[in-house]
Amino acid sequence: MRRRLAKEAESTGGAMRPLVWFRSDLRVHDNRALAQACRDAAGPVLGVFTICPKQWEAHDWSSAKVSLVMRTLAELSGALTALNIPLLIVEEPTFAGVPGRLLALAERHQCDGLYFSREYEWNERTRDEQVSQAFERTGRVVRTFSDRVLFEPGILRTQSGGMYTVYSPFRRACIARLLEGGLPEVEPAPRARAGSVCKPDRVPEAVAGFGGPTHADLWAAGESEAKKRLDRFARARMADYREARDLLAEPGTSELSPYLAIGAISIRACLARAARAAEGTIDGGPAGPCTWINELLWREFYTHVMWGFPRVSKGRAFRPETESIRWEEDERLFRAWCEGKTGYPIVDAGMHQMAQTGWMHNRARMIVASFLTKDLGIDWRSGERFFMRHLVDGDLANNNGGWQWSASTGTDAQPYFRIFNPVSQSRRYDPKGAYIRRYVPELERLDEKQIHEGGGLFRPGRYPAPIVDHATAREAALRRFGGNSEASR
Ligand SMILES: Cc1cc2nc3c(=O)[nH]c(=O)nc-3n(C[C@H](O)[C@H](O)[C@H](O)COP(=O)(O)OP(=O)(O)OC[C@H]3O[C@@H](n4cnc5c(N)ncnc54)[C@H](O)[C@@H]3O)c2cc1C
Repeated sequence: MRRRLAKEAESTGGAMRPLVWFRSDLRVHDNRALAQACRDAAGPVLGVFTICPKQWEAHDWSSAKVSLVMRTLAELSGALTALNIPLLIVEEPTFAGVPGRLLALAERHQCDGLYFSREYEWNERTRDEQVSQAFERTGRVVRTFSDRVLFEPGILRTQSGGMYTVYSPFRRACIARLLEGGLPEVEPAPRARAGSVCKPDRVPEAVAGFGGPTHADLWAAGESEAKKRLDRFARARMADYREARDLLAEPGTSELSPYLAIGAISIRACLARAARAAEGTIDGGPAGPCTWINELLWREFYTHVMWGFPRVSKGRAFRPETESIRWEEDERLFRAWCEGKTGYPIVDAGMHQMAQTGWMHNRARMIVASFLTKDLGIDWRSGERFFMRHLVDGDLANNNGGWQWSASTGTDAQPYFRIFNPVSQSRRYDPKGAYIRRYVPELERLDEKQIHEGGGLFRPGRYPAPIVDHATAREAALRRFGGNSEASR
């Protein structure tokens, strides 16, 4: 599978009728598959998107993410129509039916080539292999592209030839490659085709099993919005990113994750913008842009890990030895966490932010994930699933990476595992309590000293007492990991 999909076919000399399969690359600018299809085509180019409601449900996609995808598709369809490229929509419950449906579509429109950018999740890779085989069996050309990441997974290797499993050396390898080879090119949108073979399909507004537009007022759709956000962030906030990114009440980060997750903006465009702000010094240059580049490289890292260690796509721990940890099964505690009723204001604020907006600040994600896995001792997989079902930016690699990092079952340079103290995290990253007041209004009258602490201080009946005692829970967490010398200290 690896060999076939990693192979980018020879140029076809401009004689193709390509079908471009859009997936997590919902844009016309800097879209490698689309750009090459337009170069290879003799005449018309067609686009297709596959809606797979049952598969999306099985992958825990949230209504917020589906809503953003569908609204972005509508914009993409308009942009493609302006280029005389009709976007066709295929609806098929699961991936299993996709090869047959795409092939039938290619036959109907006499397309002799399928072009798409690679995805790296296990089920997506399996689907792509089956689709490729179906097309190749009928003599059609399949061309796949590296688009989602800066470096194709598998290219960057340690000195001993293995995949990187620790972020810092991985980051250094990425930076060295970028300094050596230059930044990847950002391609413009292709020029309009001379003619089109058919009309685009109507993009449905909703998908069965998912709500209609969800958090649509907060997450405007499409690549135009993604570009606007990148510009605004680069102009107004990137310079201060290093200091502001951890402050929960500040709009200190780009809020581009939903758009990167569905490919409404390319990673290359983000990197190019940061490099411009860093005046070309992408390592050791201005702190704001360079720190932001490091975060983009965390995304890169987790995608490479997901490709190199497919078990993480299958619900398994990155560190197999942590599979023996005995997690608590306490539905009452889990519900309290899900509903933001833990009695720890900073945890509850984070969970309410996600419920109200479909997004959660990175620092809050780390705090609530640590709380679930360490203070409540609940399996990270429950948290991972709950996040996917609510986040507008749900992304298997980043979500899994973040959860396993927090649960100490994943990639981490630390030989011991960390347990966040929710109250000291709150004091440090929400010093005035403004984030808590925004998302837990019951506490708005508490002053900036009281607001971080749970229990007692609050009006009875309005805010819950802490569901666990942090100090006791911390001891229990140390014991839980105790049998595992690698993961505990
Ligand atoms: C438990 C947990 C779950 C997470 N789940 C997701 C998820 O489902 N989808 C998701 O995109 N991110 C996830 N993250 C990573 C991170 O929290 C978000 O990417 C970030 O908060 C998005 O905000 P932003 O776009 O303003 O980021 P910025 O700070 O502006 O960073 C720019 C981009 O870099 C990438 N990035 C930043 N931080 C990280 C990180 N720690 N790991 C990987 N990529 C990063 C994202 O693509 C982000 O959009 C998770 C983190 C944790 C701890």
